Amino acid sequence: MQKIITLHDLRFEPYLTKAAILAQVQKMGAAIQKDFQDKKPVFLAVLNGSFIFAADLARACEIDLETTFIKLSSYHGTASTGEIKEVIGLDVDLKNRHVVIVEDIIDSGQTLYEFIPKLEGMGPASISLAVLLLKPDAVKYEFDIPYLGFEIPNKFVVGYGLDYNGLGRNLEEIYQLVE
Ligand code: 5GP
Ligand code: MG
Repeated sequence: MQKIITLHDLRFEPYLTKAAILAQVQKMGAAIQKDFQDKKPVFLAVLNGSFIFAADLARACEIDLETTFIKLSSYHGTASTGEIKEVIGLDVDLKNRHVVIVEDIIDSGQTLYEFIPKLEGMGPASISLAVLLLKPDAVKYEFDIPYLGFEIPNKFVVGYGLDYNGLGRNLEEIYQLVE
């Protein structure tokens, strides 16, 4: 039986089980472990949504690695530059480091599209993407995603770190909006 939940004014139904998520995260971790053995990668987790994914992914990699968290705040620049994401909280020098961006979800892709060039400017040895969820029907840019959890339909999801207006991050499973 499906267990429908309500957050604020919206109803959500179970979509990805805890077991399915963790199995996929273990696979991603194993692949990263193999590719970054002896490279001491820096996991750069994008808050808030990726805090639970980052915790599980880091523990799925049994190699030396660092984990740090950043926030990308959007503010409106001049009309010509449009929206700019400001990087907050970066406390590791990424020069010559192998960086793994840990993102909960790529929807339009705008966030990463704006962030990756900034990161490139910091002189890392490499940049790789570890993304739990991708909405192929929503994404507007092309990304190389070597570590991808799930491709999902273009519907709003919550749980496992993802919220709806603040609620739902602590749900162990991923739920999909009931339309
Ligand atoms: P973008 O459109 O830039 O790829 O996604 C920006 C951010 O929007 C994501 O990092 C995530 O925080 C949020 N987002 C996009 N799609 C969803 C979704 O289905 N559920 C939730 N909870 N957040 C989403
Ligand atoms: Mg995110």
